[in-house]
Amino acid sequence: MGSVVLSLDAELGWGFHDLPNPPAKRVAAGRRGWSAMVDLLEEYRIPATWAIVGHLMLESCDGRHADHPAPDGWFERERTDWQDREEIRFGPDLVRDVLESDVDHEFASHSFSHVLFGRPETDRELAVAELERSLEIAADWNQSVDSFIYPRNEVGHRDVLAEQEIQAYRSRSPTRYGIRCIFDLTVLNKSLLVTPTIDEYGLVDIPASLFLFGFEGSARTVAESVWDDPMVALARYGIDQATERDGIFHMWLHPNNLTHERDDRRMRAILSYLARRRAETDLTVETMADVANRVTGAITAEADVRPTVTRS
Ligand SMILES: [Zn+2]
Ligand SMILES: [Zn+2]
Repeated sequence: MGSVVLSLDAELGWGFHDLPNPPAKRVAAGRRGWSAMVDLLEEYRIPATWAIVGHLMLESCDGRHADHPAPDGWFERERTDWQDREEIRFGPDLVRDVLESDVDHEFASHSFSHVLFGRPETDRELAVAELERSLEIAADWNQSVDSFIYPRNEVGHRDVLAEQEIQAYRSRSPTRYGIRCIFDLTVLNKSLLVTPTIDEYGLVDIPASLFLFGFEGSARTVAESVWDDPMVALARYGIDQATERDGIFHMWLHPNNLTHERDDRRMRAILSYLARRRAETDLTVETMADVANRVTGAITAEADVRPTVTRS
C-alpha cells in the first residue's frame, strides 16, 4: 500500500516578480486560490505540505533589502509596478490561515524571495542567505522547517539545505507534463508512483508525480468539452495506483493556479476522490516531513538490527 502527498508552492506575486511580463491572471489569483485551497483541504481533511515564500510572512519592507546578497534589481518590482500592491508582496494573514487550520498541514519553505537555485549566478552566499532568512522568519513564527521546495523546481545547493538541517526536498517528476504525461502512462506504461531516496547529503528526495495544472489552455478547453477534466482522470489513476502498491503519488500545484471556478472544481473532484479512497482502503495521506521521517526512520531501524562489525 502506498501513500499520497500533496505539496503547494505558495508564493503570491513572488513566483513571477523576476519575469518581464508577469501573467496578470495568475498574479491576481494568488489570494483567491490560497483561500480556496485552505477551505477545500479543511473540508476533505487532507493535510498538505505548504512551501511558503518567506517574504510573505513579513508585515512590511523597504523594497530594497540592502543586506540581502541578491543581484541588483532583484527586488525592483517592489519599488516600481508592485509598490502599491502589498497584497501580493505580503500575506501574513494567509499564512496564519494555514497554521490555524483544523488540518495538521506541514509548514515548509519555498525560499525567501524565490531565487532560482539552479542558476550559475546563484552563488553559495545567496543560497545560504535565502535559506537563513526564511528559517529566521519561520522561527519568529515558532515554526521549524523540515522540507524545502525549490523555486521553479530548479534543484541546486543541496549541501546548503543539509547544512541548515532541512530534511527533504521535492525533485522533478520522472513523467512529463500535460499530454505527454498521458503518452508516458498509456504508451510507455510508466507508473505515476515515485520512490523517495536519500541523496549523498542525507536529504530525502521526494520526486513529484504530477503537476495538477500541466494541461491548460485551449487543449484543456477542447478536452473538457468532450470528456471530463483529463487532469482529474490522471489524478484518480495515480491515487488508485497508490492503493494497489508501494510508492508515493505526489501531486503538486501553486495556489495561484486556481484562477477560475473550474480550477476549484478540479481540485474538489481530486480531493473528494482522495478522501473517499482513503476511507475505503488503508491508503494514507502524508506530508513531505512524514515521508522523510518514515524513510530515515526505516533506515535507522535497519541499521540497528545489523550485526556489529568490528574493524581490525
Ligand atoms: Zn520586500
Ligand atoms: Zn514557486
